[in-house]
Amino acid sequence: MIEPERFKSPAYLRVLDDQISELSAFIGKSVEQVMRKAAESGYPNEACGLLVGRLDDQGWHVDAAYEVRNINEDRSADRFLLDPEGYQRVDQSVRGTGQEIIGVFHSHPDCPAKPSPTDLGHAWESFLYPIVSVDRGVVHEIAYWTLNANGDRFQSVSVRML
Ligand SMILES: [Zn+2]
Repeated sequence: MIEPERFKSPAYLRVLDDQISELSAFIGKSVEQVMRKAAESGYPNEACGLLVGRLDDQGWHVDAAYEVRNINEDRSADRFLLDPEGYQRVDQSVRGTGQEIIGVFHSHPDCPAKPSPTDLGHAWESFLYPIVSVDRGVVHEIAYWTLNANGDRFQSVSVRML
């Protein structure tokens, strides 16, 4: 994949922390399948969705992923906005189950699986952020990120496939 110039700019590079997160992401095969399918069927627009599971001192145990509609209409190729109705639906479905929403995934059509300054501006503390890079319609890579302790950069999260 040809990496767009902006991903090498100081504004993009300063989004990334050198440190790797002490927490890991525990991901089931079906979770990755949901993210891949959403990313490829959404191409050339960004796809997005929610991760459900629980967070403990080991990291994020992701039990399921749910695609949620990207309602950004002006710049759906490089921005996403989760449909609030979709968010509520997932939120309600996990009530009383001991699970909660623990992350948000989105795709980067024809861009690397690295967070952008926009992603940093929208990120929540303790959430897991998988980014699915799609190269000409086919998933190229999925990378996992979370905010550092200061909340001012993204740290890479190592993944353990279940
Ligand atoms: Zn992004």
